[in-house]
Amino acid sequence: MTDLKKEIQYVKGVGPTRAKVLNKLGIFTLEDLITYYPRDYEDRSKIKYIADTQDGEKCSIEAVAVSGINLRMLGRYKSIEKLIVKDETDTCMITWFNQPYIKTQIKREEKYRFFGKITVRNGVRELNSPVFDVIEKNTNTGKIVPVYPLTYDIKANAIRKIIQNGLSLVDNLDEIMPEYILTKYNLIGYNEAIHQIHFPKDFESFRKARRRLVFDELLTMQLGLLKLKGENNEKIKGIKYDENVNMSDVINDLPFRLTKAQLNVLEDINADMENDKPMNRLLQGDVGSGKTIVAMIAAYKAVKSGYQVAILAPTMILAKQHLANFEKTLSKYGIKCEGLVGGMTAKQKKQALEKIENGEVDIVIGTHALLEENVTFKKLGFVVTDEQHRFGVKQRSSIISKGENPDVLVMTATPIPRTLALILYGDLDISIIDELPPNRKHVETFAVSKKLEPRINEFVKKEINQGRQCYVVCPLVEESNDPEAPKLKSAVELAEKYKNEIFKEYRVEVLHGKMKPKEKDEIMERFKNGEIDILVSTTVIEVGVDVPNASLMIIENAERFGLAQLHQLRGRVGRGEYKSYCILKCNGGNELIRERMEIMTKTDNGFTIAEKDLELRGSGDFFGTKQHGIPEFKIANLFQDMEALKEVQALAMQIIDQDLNLEKEENKLLKDLINKRFTSKAQLTI
Ligand code: ADP
Ligand code: MG
Repeated sequence: MTDLKKEIQYVKGVGPTRAKVLNKLGIFTLEDLITYYPRDYEDRSKIKYIADTQDGEKCSIEAVAVSGINLRMLGRYKSIEKLIVKDETDTCMITWFNQPYIKTQIKREEKYRFFGKITVRNGVRELNSPVFDVIEKNTNTGKIVPVYPLTYDIKANAIRKIIQNGLSLVDNLDEIMPEYILTKYNLIGYNEAIHQIHFPKDFESFRKARRRLVFDELLTMQLGLLKLKGENNEKIKGIKYDENVNMSDVINDLPFRLTKAQLNVLEDINADMENDKPMNRLLQGDVGSGKTIVAMIAAYKAVKSGYQVAILAPTMILAKQHLANFEKTLSKYGIKCEGLVGGMTAKQKKQALEKIENGEVDIVIGTHALLEENVTFKKLGFVVTDEQHRFGVKQRSSIISKGENPDVLVMTATPIPRTLALILYGDLDISIIDELPPNRKHVETFAVSKKLEPRINEFVKKEINQGRQCYVVCPLVEESNDPEAPKLKSAVELAEKYKNEIFKEYRVEVLHGKMKPKEKDEIMERFKNGEIDILVSTTVIEVGVDVPNASLMIIENAERFGLAQLHQLRGRVGRGEYKSYCILKCNGGNELIRERMEIMTKTDNGFTIAEKDLELRGSGDFFGTKQHGIPEFKIANLFQDMEALKEVQALAMQIIDQDLNLEKEENKLLKDLINKRFTSKAQLTI
């Protein structure tokens, strides 16, 4: 058996210098080398007639040399080699540079296969520096050739050759996947897959090889995540809520009609609640899609079945907003709500805690204060966490432990493309509200450069003079090792400038993460009450606060934000009856920035935006998947491989269900794979 851990120097063609270059690409061992997959392929197997070739196209021709090589030396080292070839349809001129030895390789009247890029000028065809073979050979042509990610220090041909040499050392790789999985999913063997992914016989072989390797990668990932999350609630019995409590009692009383998406989601939730397996569901919905009302209706069902409900909000102001809304909707059914937020007096808090413990209140809404040890429920059955990305897994489980296997609904407005959600939240069922209520207003969005600043300022004044309010958001400027930092607007500085110069006659305040929670709440409260005209802030206002009178959102250095985040911010306006605007101020603009801003101005669907963002920036960078500890993929692509991901997820769940610790003999290989992939630190933070 070949030692895959063998250092790269031992591969033919790799000396110390090359080894260093390869190390930079993350290739240290033979195994790294053979799993350095091609980025693309060149099909050199299809032969074209000369007359059919198009300008700019890369293609293969088979043609006879009608001349010998015409060699012209340009000084001592430089030379041009020219040749005329023809097939049944036309002739073609071939040019090489600085390859005088070609003179000995090409013979007049013989036939060769050439591959290269064609140019057509005035009907004259020319091939530039093609590779070639005598007809019987397929060394450089006549096959599919891999293209590896481009690097500066090593030529395409060289890396191809090195990988080929590496592969020749391993013509009998051990299988790394259990036989039963290969059979069930009709996957080709590992050895074949590795060889075919680099030098596929044909595109069908490539497809099979890729499918196999993508499957490996996704399955390892899914199994690892499920295992990490200790997914094994198969045996856990949860609560079975009363089938006679009907959600429609509330639904039919509402002052508006729920959207179809909301109704579908409620159906999922109702089914979960009536099942004795604990609910573990992620509810995704764009800002303003109406998630809160869904949570309320589910809470109604829990309370009327005899249980208490906990609603966990990320900020105090949001907790208060929820409390007011829940009371408004649910008090008429005799349901009692109570808030539990930091900043209550000791006496208020004590009273609240007592009522929670003896079951006098049905629904408790609060911030982190809810997680504290002294909070005891009489009969907690249902937990909702809002804007879940603000809470860690630990916090989620600490509130869950206050009940006995309560149902859990996690709500988020961060539009995560479904493919990614499957990975990030492998252990949760997912429901999506993918439509907005019909009364929602479109927020007119503009991307502008610095030049337009004076006009924007006039526009702000005009809006405020009409009674509206304005948000201005700045990126965080704390890490000063960022060379761009001095050019970025900091919230504090900008607020000063607004207060003292540009908007002297208006009420300007600042809000940022370093302020005390109480100060933040106070500012937010005043903004909500219309006592502040312009609120300059960092992204602390990102999360769910409702100020219907605010009609203008200005984002400084918009190029610094993720699209998903820009979309969240934009969702802060357009919540009332007034026409609303979002202005994205950009500093500089390369193609990518322009493209990203254009997406923002053209669409207001959060999921479309998130998908595009993922497409443009790649999943590695997708609002901190790196921080989420998701290992990077070598071959799988979350766009292309959605179907495979679904297939693999179902399989992973099944395997973990039956064999959580992968102790069965048949799963031994899987265990090895996971141990290898998920090394040392399990850094999951979701
Ligand atoms: P989010 O999903 O961002 O949490 P909310 O639940 O805060 O959205 O809903 C935003 C507003 O829309 C609330 O005032 C809510 O009462 C209202 N709303 C929710 N569903 C509907 C609907 N189907 N039709 C009209 N208004 C709705
Ligand atoms: Mg909300």
